Amino acid sequence: ETIGENLAHTAARVPERDALVSCEQGIRWTYAQLDAAVDRLATGLLRSGVAKGDRVGLWSPNRAEWTLVQYATARIGAVLVNVNPAYRTHELSYALRHSGTKLLFSARAFKTSDYAAMVAQVGDELQELERVVFFDDDPAWDELAATPADAAALAERAATLSFDDPIDIQYTSGTTGAPKGATLSHHNLLNNGFLVGELIHYSEHDRICLPVPFYHCFGMVMGNLAATSHGACMVIPSAGFDPLATLRAVAQERCTSLYGVPTMFIAELEHPSFAEHDLSSLRTGIMAGSPCPIEVMKQVIDKMHMREVSICYGMTETSPVSTQTRTDDPLELRVGSVGRVGPHVEVKVVEPDTGMIVKRGETGELRTRGYSVMLGYWGELEKTAEAIDAAGWMHTGDLATMDDAGYVAIVGRIKDMVIRGGENVYPRELEELLHLHDDVVDVQVVGVPDAKYGEELCAWVRLRDGAAVGEDDVRAFCRERVAHFKVPRHVLFVDEFPMTVTGKVQKYKMREATIERLG
Ligand code: ATP
Ligand code: MG
Repeated sequence: ETIGENLAHTAARVPERDALVSCEQGIRWTYAQLDAAVDRLATGLLRSGVAKGDRVGLWSPNRAEWTLVQYATARIGAVLVNVNPAYRTHELSYALRHSGTKLLFSARAFKTSDYAAMVAQVGDELQELERVVFFDDDPAWDELAATPADAAALAERAATLSFDDPIDIQYTSGTTGAPKGATLSHHNLLNNGFLVGELIHYSEHDRICLPVPFYHCFGMVMGNLAATSHGACMVIPSAGFDPLATLRAVAQERCTSLYGVPTMFIAELEHPSFAEHDLSSLRTGIMAGSPCPIEVMKQVIDKMHMREVSICYGMTETSPVSTQTRTDDPLELRVGSVGRVGPHVEVKVVEPDTGMIVKRGETGELRTRGYSVMLGYWGELEKTAEAIDAAGWMHTGDLATMDDAGYVAIVGRIKDMVIRGGENVYPRELEELLHLHDDVVDVQVVGVPDAKYGEELCAWVRLRDGAAVGEDDVRAFCRERVAHFKVPRHVLFVDEFPMTVTGKVQKYKMREATIERLG
């Protein structure tokens, strides 16, 4: 089954159920309406000459049209190129050239981003780009989206498509440097979305609030594909992340599920109006994307009623989810681990240099294999061969432990591990510790070069408003609780962290900024 066929089957099963609600746009579609709209746009794309395998770019924050383009391109076997809405001209030009994008869909503007002006600016550098269609005030969009559906032409194209065709070039978040373009198939994405939804028991009675970006797998796979493969409803609170709009959407749409990276949940819990919103409809949700602090998980369960909240771990290159907590796992594992391996996937923890599996409980690199592993990095054979070994294992670059029962805990990225005076220190451990401090709202720890110890730890701390906490207090708090070499030498009080659009903290930028600040 391809993604296009899967949507059609859901629409045949639950035609009258809500498929998509876009709060800011005032749009509400049932499955029958969504499926018909996808058929029209897919027919429009066929008519305008989009062939199987052609790259179609999509550069826009979350909105209903995003989802239409996602499913219409899948239905005709075009390859969707997801372009990060935070990109500027240089990155846009790179992504479109690198992928050989022929047709680009884009919003005209969002907040401070004038997409139309940026597209015009780089247009000349893009030999393969033939056409740009804007969602707003563009007759070309209206015409494409209103093309009368041609069932015979769509069926003819569908007959040429295979489950294993590439369907998406998904750029990674760019947390550790320049994003890489993972090429993913129907099989990769649809299976992953479906299985993630299975493990949190989605049905047509679920309504999933999606403040996470669609341009990333979190929104597009764990959100959209999990929803449409189970007949659940996608609720888009706002174009970009907005904690208030998210809380309102949950209450107004009686959402049963809410997604976010940890920083999003923190922003919602900290919002001054938090207590005014009725969140009692929530049952479940997903926290993922970066280390999920135990304290934040507990608050999400207690204060947001998300008793069955699940943590997922994965990466763009694996479609994305590899491990997931189950709703019936013991509480301490549901907040303190990333769960067990998902169906039809393998994971192992190895000594990175030798590839030997480490003893249970010991730290090593997490590797994963199965249907979820990407086809490769688009046009980068060498990088692909570095990431996926001859036996098909994806090397994640993440350090993890696995206990006797198979529960995995993420220790941190190999790149983020700090070696201070010969001792390995995992920033995650200190972050978890400092989250226990009453005045700390959020905290991130990095290593910075040091003449004496090789590296020293630096904690960036966001304090509660009005808190009177000094650097020495932070150090004293740590000194009482962990070994002396883990106590951060440097403490900086900040209002925010350098972040990707997916809400992930870019530690390489923190390191650069710390070095600059410390002189
Ligand atoms: P880039 O590869 O471009 O530097 P990125 O790795 O952040 O960016 P993604 O593919 O979006 O891009 O993120 C995958 C990474 O996110 C994983 O390799 C892991 O480090 C981290 N991650 C994801 N989920 C979790 C989780 N539940 N707990 C801890 N870390 C997580
Ligand atoms: Mg990565």
